[in-house]
Amino acid sequence: MTPNKKVKILATLGPAIRGQDDIRQLVEAGVNLFRLNFSHGEHADHAERYRWVREVERELDYPIGILMDLQGPKLRVGRFAAGKVQLAKGQAFRLDLDPTPGDARRVNLPHPEIIAALQPGMSLLLDDGRLRLEVTARHAEAIDTQVIAGGELSDRKGVNVPEAVLQLSPLTDKDRRDLAFGLELGVDWVALSFVQRPEDIHEARELIGGRAALMAKIEKPSAVQHLEEIARLSDAIMVARGDLGVEVPAENVPRIQKEIIATCRRLGRPVVVATQMLESMRFSPAPTRAEVTDVATAVSEGTDAVMLSAETASGDYPLEAVQMMSKIIRQVENEPDFQAQLDVGRPQAEPTASDAISCAIRRISAILPVAALVNYTESGTSSLRTSRERPRATILSLTPNQETARRLTVAWGIYSVVKQRLQQVEEVTRTALDVAQAQGLAKPGDTVVITAGVPFGQPGTTNTLRIETL
Ligand code: PGA
Ligand code: MN
Repeated sequence: MTPNKKVKILATLGPAIRGQDDIRQLVEAGVNLFRLNFSHGEHADHAERYRWVREVERELDYPIGILMDLQGPKLRVGRFAAGKVQLAKGQAFRLDLDPTPGDARRVNLPHPEIIAALQPGMSLLLDDGRLRLEVTARHAEAIDTQVIAGGELSDRKGVNVPEAVLQLSPLTDKDRRDLAFGLELGVDWVALSFVQRPEDIHEARELIGGRAALMAKIEKPSAVQHLEEIARLSDAIMVARGDLGVEVPAENVPRIQKEIIATCRRLGRPVVVATQMLESMRFSPAPTRAEVTDVATAVSEGTDAVMLSAETASGDYPLEAVQMMSKIIRQVENEPDFQAQLDVGRPQAEPTASDAISCAIRRISAILPVAALVNYTESGTSSLRTSRERPRATILSLTPNQETARRLTVAWGIYSVVKQRLQQVEEVTRTALDVAQAQGLAKPGDTVVITAGVPFGQPGTTNTLRIETL
């Protein structure tokens, strides 16, 4: 597995991925980490997929991250007797507390707090805003609506009510159960949905207790307002454009995406751009030109990772979607002005030895033809500071911690190799040269830059930089 792109791919698992062979193909096509989406599926499904990924990781001897995505207080309609219905513009449609499967006249909305918060005249957006209903009347256990924009509505589709203020905790009872299950499995990342305030992160951190890293999904207007603080408190951020584009006017999403990417880079927090990136590939082996441009734009803006949702989870062309995404990423990364563009967006270094070295590494790899930047790290912190500089050469992270290697799969340009704990700088140098060659990044005569913190084992102590020839 020779690293061949800087931007990472996060692919969602679902019924379209049927076993270890499928997973291996996706990894070989460029997936760096997988998402278990706890909005769908049973615990047994997630456990099985988790095992497939770990098997492939072992087989390929290549760290693969696993992110569990908690549903959060996502509002959803119930199920339909026929699995789906067609709603026509102008017709009446009722949402109620009755769990009986729905039809074209009504469906279950299992959220009494929403029914209580809605007023006539307010809008309900269904299925990422594809359908729009307007409330005409509210009863004790139901609301009547008129269909403003119709279409197909299927089981468990999402509901957004941007005009209503909802008092919801970011962690539902289901999330707490799912979280305990996921941590027991051994997930590397936990994504928190519908974060609204910095306090939401504290609450989740306490429950996670250091067993996994935390990714906050920005999909509420209030999270955009508190972006800086939320990003500081989190280990990574997701631009969750699906719900975000319903909660705020869709035309504001591009600006918010840019702002989130810039903020995350400044703070050194990996960022994932998510949702509808190659949406049409659910049913077609080729994407639209607009989708290709969207992925390319996220890469140019300096995102760490891009995500595939239904494209891989339930689409007809999961492998083709990953292959396409990798091709777009590599194309942009190979364009002559790409690196210059990233250099322009470079954040200021903080006054630490680690940042001074990271900054030097970027300059060195612009001056010398550096084959690989090898960083010996236990916690992954120094590799992340180097990634923040977006250097030209690939960052090879040597770490004794498998957990660190798996977490770093989301970060721009970092590829990890798990090695036993090293004691001396000489040992690091030798191992670094061996690993750079084994990974297919360097051949005899090539320049390799090596960094480490001496003494070893203390996070944030990177203080040594060597330029070596293989
Ligand atoms: P979801 O999150 O797929 O869990 O809704 C991503 C998004 O909202 O874009
Ligand atoms: Mn969402």
